[in-house]
Amino acid sequence: MFKKGSIRMSIPSKVEYAIIGAGIHGLSTAWHLAAKLKAKGKGDGSKILVIDKDSIAAGASGIACGVIRNNYYQPAMRELMAMCVEVWESDAKNFHYHDVGYMQISPECMENDVAEIYAQQKNIGYDSVFIQGKKESEQYMKKYFSDWQAQGITSVLHEKRGGYANNTSSIYGLADKAEAEGVRILTGTEVKGFEFGSNSNAVTGIETDKGLIKCDHVIVGAGPWVKRFWDMMDLPNQISIKNSKGEMHNNVPMWQYWFLTEGVLGVEPGFLKTDDDNMPPVLHVDTDAPLYSDVDKSLITDELWGIYYKPDFHFNGIQGGSSPYKVGKAGGEGVLVDPYGPKSSEFTLDDHFAHMWTSALAHCHKRFEGKSHLFKKGATGGLGCFTPDSFPIFDTFRENVYLIADSNHGYKMIGVGKLVADEVLGEKSKLLEPFRFSRYEQGKLHPTSNSPFPWS
Ligand SMILES: Cc1cc2nc3c(=O)[nH]c(=O)nc-3n(C[C@H](O)[C@H](O)[C@H](O)COP(=O)(O)OP(=O)(O)OC[C@H]3O[C@@H](n4cnc5c(N)ncnc54)[C@H](O)[C@@H]3O)c2cc1C
Repeated sequence: MFKKGSIRMSIPSKVEYAIIGAGIHGLSTAWHLAAKLKAKGKGDGSKILVIDKDSIAAGASGIACGVIRNNYYQPAMRELMAMCVEVWESDAKNFHYHDVGYMQISPECMENDVAEIYAQQKNIGYDSVFIQGKKESEQYMKKYFSDWQAQGITSVLHEKRGGYANNTSSIYGLADKAEAEGVRILTGTEVKGFEFGSNSNAVTGIETDKGLIKCDHVIVGAGPWVKRFWDMMDLPNQISIKNSKGEMHNNVPMWQYWFLTEGVLGVEPGFLKTDDDNMPPVLHVDTDAPLYSDVDKSLITDELWGIYYKPDFHFNGIQGGSSPYKVGKAGGEGVLVDPYGPKSSEFTLDDHFAHMWTSALAHCHKRFEGKSHLFKKGATGGLGCFTPDSFPIFDTFRENVYLIADSNHGYKMIGVGKLVADEVLGEKSKLLEPFRFSRYEQGKLHPTSNSPFPWS
């Protein structure tokens, strides 16, 4: 297995495929591309170089909660996630994947949306159960947790597949697979710019802090740093979007940063076992019932709120989060992404999150009452860089640059690299088609749901 900072190699002057970012997308693409090159008799992983300014899993993939679910209101997202879950299931051991399932527990205002998700999951053969009605939902939840007490719930979508994976371990698992195919991973090397062709728009080389690397194809999987690469390619920071009525909106900012709030309650991970002594599914609860403080009973909110949580031995406690919030100006100008995640002094969790999230846990299960003081203080959470509609862009720019901009949906999307590898080799993917950049101008937008989260 790779150890952080253990990769040493000289800078090659030329590679065929340069992949920027050693996170879930860069490494999944590298692994699949190498295997496909070999299968087609076109070479192997030695044609591929993954470059990271820091280390493997240094970005969002290394701090993600790790939740893997299908629950999306958008048909294109659901189909893509079903394919991604298959990749997780293909090697649960090396991906450190826990197939505990996932529950979306919702209030009346979301019931129709979730019913539609369930109907479409049936159509694509994705195993799930849907419970409707206040009493029925409560009975269903009490079968798993006799201390269940959440209010305002009228439906439960229980996905039998999905669950979560351990963030850094799974990314190292991917790195092992890529390296086994002959891929080289160059860490501690920052991409500073692109060299462009004199007779074309294409990128002919990447300028790093250690020298120029000529290349034929570039794949960018830079997570929250995507705006920097967008700017390197001179792409527009304001775009036009056609809405569902056919009206054009001009000058819409391209990027928006959000801060993802997550934390850990310091109890034994087994504290959230089900009544029959099993590890529970990942739980996501949204409700419009008033949320009161578990510390002093004051009202925290009487608007729609949501949390997700799971027991996690990796984080050693109950780990989860609540709705993110926007940071910086629309357009993302001036937001300091570095130092990233827990190392950031600017973007950190405040006491409000701990108070809200632990009170919400107590709202859902009696066992969490009086446990707020066990919230683990320390840096968690991190930035995500979102697209104008908060859905991914998978597309080619400047003739030979494949951009994977997942709009912060992406830890679960381990299969995207497989499809990107096909596209880089000239085979268009039907599953990626709904995520082209041209959808904004053409008004081919994804439907939006009533969830309080920007990613559902
Ligand atoms: C707190 C948090 C929780 C999350 N939880 C979940 C979850 O439960 N489930 C889920 O599906 N998604 C989750 N996400 C979203 C998910 O983590 C990201 O969408 C996904 O990891 C992005 O993967 P990536 O490979 O594109 O980028 P990253 O993992 O961020 O990797 C990008 C890499 O690019 C490198 N890089 C950047 N700039 C340069 C440069 N100039 N030169 C060289 N290298 C560079 C970085 O060092 C980094 O290693 C979460 C995100 C956050 C922040």
